[in-house]
Amino acid sequence: MTAHDDVVDALAVRAAELDDAHASTDRRDRFTLPEGVVYLDGNSLGALQRHVPAVLADVVRRQWGADLVTSWNVHGWWDAPTRVGDRIAPLVGAAPGQVVVGDSTTVALHQTLGAALRLRPGRRAVVTDPASFPTDLYVVAGLAAEHGLEVLHASPPDVPDLLRRRGDDVAVVVLSHVDFRTGELWDLPGITGAAHVAGALALWDLSHTAGAVPVGLDEHGVDLAVGCGYKYLCGGPGAPAFTYVARRHQDDYRPPVQGWNGHAEPFAMAAEHRFADGVARARIGTPPMLSLLALDAALDLFDDLPIEAVRARSLSLTGFLADALGALVPEAELVTPRDDARRGSHVSVAHPRAYGLVQALIARGVVGDYREPGLARLGVAAPYLSHAQMLRAALEARAVLDRGEESAHRDRATVT
Ligand SMILES: *Cc1c(COP(=O)(O)O)cnc(C)c1O
Repeated sequence: MTAHDDVVDALAVRAAELDDAHASTDRRDRFTLPEGVVYLDGNSLGALQRHVPAVLADVVRRQWGADLVTSWNVHGWWDAPTRVGDRIAPLVGAAPGQVVVGDSTTVALHQTLGAALRLRPGRRAVVTDPASFPTDLYVVAGLAAEHGLEVLHASPPDVPDLLRRRGDDVAVVVLSHVDFRTGELWDLPGITGAAHVAGALALWDLSHTAGAVPVGLDEHGVDLAVGCGYKYLCGGPGAPAFTYVARRHQDDYRPPVQGWNGHAEPFAMAAEHRFADGVARARIGTPPMLSLLALDAALDLFDDLPIEAVRARSLSLTGFLADALGALVPEAELVTPRDDARRGSHVSVAHPRAYGLVQALIARGVVGDYREPGLARLGVAAPYLSHAQMLRAALEARAVLDRGEESAHRDRATVT
């Protein structure tokens, strides 16, 4: 036995113990993942559950095919955006009546930020993290230019200090709860509180949070939030995003795109727009119903799996994955915090040939993704992953690097 074998044996024993300890939150049976694949990209496209195709087939064949336009009433299509929103609400700590589903995260962010700026007239700046997901930066830059506002860039830990200096000028703080590259989980309660002391609003992007990390939107007094439907919520490719508008802001919430679905009386066909009461005013136009109802079905996952239980499983898996990578692949630098309180639900490592490493891992059945600059990102959607699979991922990474397989992949695909 070599020292390496001893390390692997010890990790295998630990993986088995942890899988036993977390058996009650293992939902791998619900999913259709291919045999032998370790799927570590649920933070880009969540996996498919077994029951979803039949639900969608019914929506297509019976509801669309036979019941046709009456489905808007008889199958509750019209109310689906707020009904599905209320199913997401407990995952992000929101009481009912504050979450609506429809459109992409990009559009939802544009709508909420535009509405937030109207709630804080006269303030001349918006604060955001320069490391945000690019679409968030583009939305912030676009609206700031349109409104003649300055964009103040700061890493989330520096935001409270920035607000102490410039807070009087700041209309809105726009941040992601989890950094999409490093997986770092930011201090949402503290930063939201600091924004409020300055008289600013806090708008959070929960794309890498919803379905993986409990949030406590109501508890922490968050003003507005958006999040993605196709990542940890498993809604399927292009699933609509969600928007949270705290109840106290709803009467004054006026997003820039005013569509007929958000009208107080959509079928009055009035010439003038009048916002609906409540969060329904955050609706825009007709939502993509097939995608919305696929997301609705996917959310069944959480019916008997509270978000706190998902979080406990996720922390155990990501912590063990970080340890296994540290022991077996020490040349790949862990950029994700090892401290549970500061970690979302993915683990990223830096490596000079990270793109090739990811491609070689995919060829071996371990599916992660690559993110600039130089990061291999391993997403851990806890319900359908095991500790044994975390060890397998680290072992395959060791094998790739030992054989130099990462050097074989130089040409980039469109989606990395
Ligand atoms: C995934 C993600 C998005 C995706 O936006 P789309 O409009 O759905 O393409 C936006 N913001 C963040 C932070 C994300 O992680």
